[in-house]
Amino acid sequence: MRLLLLAPPGAGKGTQGERLAAWSGARHIAAGDLLRAQAQVDDPLGREIAACQARGDLVSDQIVIDVLTPAVVEAAAHGGYILDGFPRTLPQAHAAADLAARLGVTLDAAVYLHAPEAVLTQRLLDRAHQSGRSDDKADVIRHRLQVYAETTGPLVPYYDERGILVAVDADQPPDSVTADIQARLARLAGAPGR
Ligand code: AMP
Repeated sequence: MRLLLLAPPGAGKGTQGERLAAWSGARHIAAGDLLRAQAQVDDPLGREIAACQARGDLVSDQIVIDVLTPAVVEAAAHGGYILDGFPRTLPQAHAAADLAARLGVTLDAAVYLHAPEAVLTQRLLDRAHQSGRSDDKADVIRHRLQVYAETTGPLVPYYDERGILVAVDADQPPDSVTADIQARLARLAGAPGR
C-alpha cells in the first residue's frame, strides 16, 4: 500500500501513520522525525534544519526531498509506504509524483485528517508538556498552523482533483479515526477499477 497523510499539526498523523503501517505492512516514513534526526548532526545542514524546525517554518523543498527520497525508494521495494508529513508543498507533491513515476508505482490514497483549529491548538499545547519538542510552544504552534493553512492546504484540492483524496474527521478518539480510515481504504480497494 502507498499512502500519504495530509494533516495540520496536531491532527494525529504520527499516531495514525504508525497504526496504518502496522495494519498494512507498509513502512511509516515520518518527514518530521527524519528531519529531527538529521538536525541532531552538528553540521551546516543539521543546524539549518534545527533552526527551521524551532521557528515552525518549513525546511526547504530540496533538503526535504534529499532526506526523504532514499527512504521512499527503499520502502517502495518493501511493501510500500505511509508518508507522514511529506509532501507539504506543491513542489514537494510534484517531486513525490515524479519519484513514484520513476519507481513505477502509484499512490493509492491521500488521507486528509481534518479537525477544528481550536482542537489542534489544544492538543499541541497538551503535548508540549511531554514532547520536549522545540516547536511545541504557543507562538510557534500558531505559526505552524498558519504555515500549514497557506502552504500545505492547497494540497487538499490538488489530490482531490486527482481523485485520490480520502477526507476523515480527526476530531474523534484515535481508535475511531483509525477505524474510519481503514473502512474508507477498504472501500477504495474494493471499488471497481482500482
Ligand atoms: P512534524 O513532525 O510533521 O510536525 O514536522 C515538524 C517540522 O519539521 C515542521 O514544522 C517543519 O519544520 C519540518 N518538516 C516536516 N516535514 C516537512 C516537509 N515535508 N517540508 C518541510 N518541512 C518539513
